[in-house]
Amino acid sequence: MKDRTPDNERAYRSVPLTIRLRRRGRTLQTIDRRIQVARRTLQWWRCDGSMTAAKELFGVVRGILDTMEMTFPCPACLSDAWAEIGIHRYWRTEHEPGGVWYRDEEVRLRRQVLFDVWFPEAAAVTLRSRRCSICGMICYAPRPDNAELTSKYDFLGAAMPGSPTPGTSGLVEAADAARASGILEALTPHLAGEGSVLDVGGRDGRLMAPFADRGFKCFLVDQMEHVRPGVRKLGDRMDDVPAHLTFDAAVCSHVLEHVAAPRELLELIHDRLRSGGVVYVEVPHEVFYNNVWNPIVVQPVEHINFFTLDALERILSGSGFTVEKAGVGLSSYDGQPLPVIRAVGVKPEAP
Ligand SMILES: [Zn+2]
Repeated sequence: MKDRTPDNERAYRSVPLTIRLRRRGRTLQTIDRRIQVARRTLQWWRCDGSMTAAKELFGVVRGILDTMEMTFPCPACLSDAWAEIGIHRYWRTEHEPGGVWYRDEEVRLRRQVLFDVWFPEAAAVTLRSRRCSICGMICYAPRPDNAELTSKYDFLGAAMPGSPTPGTSGLVEAADAARASGILEALTPHLAGEGSVLDVGGRDGRLMAPFADRGFKCFLVDQMEHVRPGVRKLGDRMDDVPAHLTFDAAVCSHVLEHVAAPRELLELIHDRLRSGGVVYVEVPHEVFYNNVWNPIVVQPVEHINFFTLDALERILSGSGFTVEKAGVGLSSYDGQPLPVIRAVGVKPEAP
């Protein structure tokens, strides 16, 4: 603020009024310009609360990323009513030689995704967990988008080129066979004796075994190259499914927690089912007690969506399905016991 002593006031008054107004106008123009820039930045930021936007801004204002707030709707119910429930900070040194996670390959690789793929210039990354006030879904911000998730899988695929086909031990085979039987049982009331079923993101198609045994034509969409006998791979993603194919049933098990746009994926599945067709959806149940069990405490790369039962029901109904059955239970993944949320949705018959 200017020093308004009597001397200064006299000097100020001695300046002709036209010049004083011109100076004031310039000041106002400068302020106005700064407000416009700030407003544009805010609008740009709000319309694209993705990791890409975060990285661009990170380059501009490196070091203050954790003061930023990014906006994206709830992936399940599309609400904007988020409540912040946790702050997680990760340090690059933690997975480097001597760091606490250096010898844990699974965590180290995923932290490398965070620091070498998503935030390559950061020494530390801060993420904020938020819970949807409507459906209870938990996500974190900044949130990776499709491009970042593709880069993640490219990195992990290159880092583990010779990784064995998952689930080759007897224990895992038995646990997956039990999972597959449970899915067939859940879908049976909605299926005729035979038909076609599409497994979306089912790795090598292991969940299709009991369907194939019952005479179903089994199809698969997944990036995995090796596919089990009796299952026909249609491509890496839903876009690869030939346009003329529709299915009586679809299975989407342990997929929605990984993807940037889970609701859009369910809409694509809905489009590919016949009227009256049915989908089985299963996700891990990882949301417990105010985020205490939220697994991003160790690494935020593996899962980006943490569902509640309500969130799973809302995302199904929001993508066009009638929820026939939904519940929380105990299942397994890679042979390990795992609490899960399951639901069966039916595509309504065309009027
Ligand atoms: Zn929600």
